[in-house]
Amino acid sequence: MTRHVPVLIVGGGPVGLALAGDLGWRGVPCTLIEKTDGAIEQPKMDLVGIRTMEFCRRWGILDWVRDAPYPPDYPQDYVYLTALNGYELGREPFPSRGFEPCPPESPQKRERVPQDMFDPILARFARSFPDVTLRYGAEFVAVKETKDEVTATVKSGGKTETIAAQYVVGTDGGASTVRESLGIGMSGNPALTYTTNVMFRCPDFHKLHDKGKAYRFIFIGPEGVWLTIVAVNGADRFRMSIVGTPQKIEHTEADVRAALKQAMGRNFDYEILSVMRWVRRELVADRYGTERVFIAGDAAHLMSPTGGFGMNTGIGDAVDLAWKLEAVHKGWGGRGLLQTYDAERRPIGLRNVAEASRNLKRMLSTREHLPGPDIFAPGAANDAARKEYGGWFAGVMRKEWFANGVMLGYRYDQSPIVVPDGTPAPPDLSHPYRQTARPGARAPHAWLDDGRSTLDLVGRGFTLLRLGENTPAGKSIESAARQRGVPLQSVALSERQVLDAYERRLVLVRPDGHVAWRADREPDDAGALIDAVRGERISIKQQQEPVS
Ligand SMILES: Cc1cc2nc3c(=O)[nH]c(=O)nc-3n(C[C@H](O)[C@H](O)[C@H](O)COP(=O)(O)OP(=O)(O)OC[C@H]3O[C@@H](n4cnc5c(N)ncnc54)[C@H](O)[C@@H]3O)c2cc1C
Repeated sequence: MTRHVPVLIVGGGPVGLALAGDLGWRGVPCTLIEKTDGAIEQPKMDLVGIRTMEFCRRWGILDWVRDAPYPPDYPQDYVYLTALNGYELGREPFPSRGFEPCPPESPQKRERVPQDMFDPILARFARSFPDVTLRYGAEFVAVKETKDEVTATVKSGGKTETIAAQYVVGTDGGASTVRESLGIGMSGNPALTYTTNVMFRCPDFHKLHDKGKAYRFIFIGPEGVWLTIVAVNGADRFRMSIVGTPQKIEHTEADVRAALKQAMGRNFDYEILSVMRWVRRELVADRYGTERVFIAGDAAHLMSPTGGFGMNTGIGDAVDLAWKLEAVHKGWGGRGLLQTYDAERRPIGLRNVAEASRNLKRMLSTREHLPGPDIFAPGAANDAARKEYGGWFAGVMRKEWFANGVMLGYRYDQSPIVVPDGTPAPPDLSHPYRQTARPGARAPHAWLDDGRSTLDLVGRGFTLLRLGENTPAGKSIESAARQRGVPLQSVALSERQVLDAYERRLVLVRPDGHVAWRADREPDDAGALIDAVRGERISIKQQQEPVS
């Protein structure tokens, strides 16, 4: 028997679940299949980035994230040290998640919520929509694509079935079967390091040393950085990573126990929960899909976890794809719309993968700038050497810790469905992040007088912001959208801070919260504008002179 669904999602990791949730939120029926039972043996991600939190705000699930059981008062410091019972070389203090303020550029902040807490939140969100079906224990094996539909072969409960879908999205992780079956290769560096992650339980961990509670400990030996330990749940579970090198190595249990002893500086009691050997990669898929089959998340890009960009980039893929799938499903999306997914998201994959590798290089720069023997030697006389080395390393690592520009500053200014306004592109800096409403950028956050954020105005359809006093009515744009069935709400705002952030009096924001077009007066041909931003008429020339 063949089942029919509009959208089939393969893989129920965080990216597949976020896509299912966003599609459900948009009223697009979808089925997600996941080959496992959904249990997470070893949580990988734990940093929910600031942009992902803005999506959670849009989806109305902030309370669920806030109430995740990672303790709100667990300090988030990064500590650089020789051993837990050795010398502290430096520290980057960060407040616990309950006390970290939001930066001025967002109504949200990053959150520390590990995968075994975050995946259930995303699954609960997806399940809250009657049109979303999550099926566990169902494995995708093959796909056949025709001009009109896609047929997926799925194994479940010892039986084989077929699911016919209008569109299939592979969010099935780094070893993606969907990507393989499309014959899409990946380019880049397949092995940056061979790393071993060890999840261990130790309820009294912070009582065994004098460094206090912290999120991440980075261990520096005579060979440079060799090990990290992170507080996975802010309580009794920790993850040790033996960082490794590009040379293949399989750490034995004896290696793992020796590393834990060396990190603590003495023997201690702990229970090993799981060991995961993995390869840190720097790879991006050569294409993000075909006409009807797409890949997103780790299926499309694999990066070093340094920076915490992996899942957050994948959720950005999901949000870009979801509104386009909604548009074609509901009939208002243009013929070229879905193909802009690759054009918009692949450059972001390349950008974020490269930044993650730069972060790794920063951490491993200790292997070139080796510490001298004095930093490991006892005595106050060597404290100055420790301070100097730790200060240098802290300066290097700040690039990774302060990266709102990476999380919020990705832009689609080269996209065929973004209308340029003739202004020059600002630099793409990881820090400091400066908001811009230049077409292609994330629509800036500004607080409204009633306490909402500008981000609270945008979401399901297009939003036409009419700003300042005596704003243009925007009637031609509204009418062109109406004629084409494109959902558009028109919002007039007189707050000065909004006009300052957006710099033009008319700004068209897409359903994913990126600026599609802006000007100070209505376009000469509003129909052409709407056709451009809905992917019907690819590429439109700038129609207005930029206003200085
Ligand atoms: C140590 C470590 C720390 C990290 N920390 C962070 C962080 O703090 N922040 C961050 O953003 N990222 C982080 N990452 C990266 C992040 O974990 C991944 O980018 C993220 O999990 C990718 O999500 P995904 O849904 O694309 O893929 P996955 O999480 O790999 O999920 C894929 C799912 O598809 C299923 N599947 C596979 N094949 C099939 C099939 N044929 N049929 C059905 N189902 C299938 C799998 O069972 C799996 O559940 C970290 C990674 C590591 C290794």
